[in-house]
Amino acid sequence: MKPDTLTQRAAQCGPRTLIIGDLHLSPNRPDITQAFARFLDNEIDGADALYIVGDLFEAWIGDDDLSDFTLAIADKLKQASERVPIYFCHGNRDFLLGPRFAQRCGMALLPEPEVLELYGETTLILHGDSLCTEDREYQKFRRLRNRPWFRMLVLSLPLSLRQGLARRARARSKMQTQMKDARIMDVSPKAVEALMEKYDARRLIHGHTHRPAIHDLPQRRQRLVVGDWYTQDSVLVVTPEESMLYSRAL
Ligand code: MN
Repeated sequence: MKPDTLTQRAAQCGPRTLIIGDLHLSPNRPDITQAFARFLDNEIDGADALYIVGDLFEAWIGDDDLSDFTLAIADKLKQASERVPIYFCHGNRDFLLGPRFAQRCGMALLPEPEVLELYGETTLILHGDSLCTEDREYQKFRRLRNRPWFRMLVLSLPLSLRQGLARRARARSKMQTQMKDARIMDVSPKAVEALMEKYDARRLIHGHTHRPAIHDLPQRRQRLVVGDWYTQDSVLVVTPEESMLYSRAL
């Protein structure tokens, strides 16, 4: 993809919806933060909506953990949200992001899955970790994590303790990811089919796996996966006619 293709495309298109995810923003990666700021400044105008499908942040341990870094991102999103509606669904890294911070960013929090009619097609939007059902161990943790009492308990811990826990959880997850079979880290085709069947959906949009692709499925269905922003950006553009994945080096 040529460097300016996305900008040109965005400038030319009519109705369109943009989807991104897995930016994993952190103070350690100013290059990703800059790329995100450029994207918000130059590439969203005229879009019907921007969906962020989770793992916007590398880690989120509560809306009380504000820093210059997180406040600058909130400001940037807030400005952008005055031009284009922004929606956010939680990822596994930022499942504790709450209504307070979302409001500061001008983004609306979505349920999982978000079900919407997008240009005439029933579309599901979610982070995607719930579809990785082969990873039993992770799903067990996920069920615990989703319980309101667990969130309340975690959020009631002192900030410094939560920071330590988050560091340990990240190190552990990195180690496990290296050990696990690549197949169980991907979505389960059965889980995808069951979810799409349940909502009679034609389109399923997610991130999490860091395997950007547009998969054509039986019955005119599509599974669209946005990639991470580690070395390149990844933007899914859905228009009434087609869906396209764009990427360019950071
Ligand atoms: Mn994830």
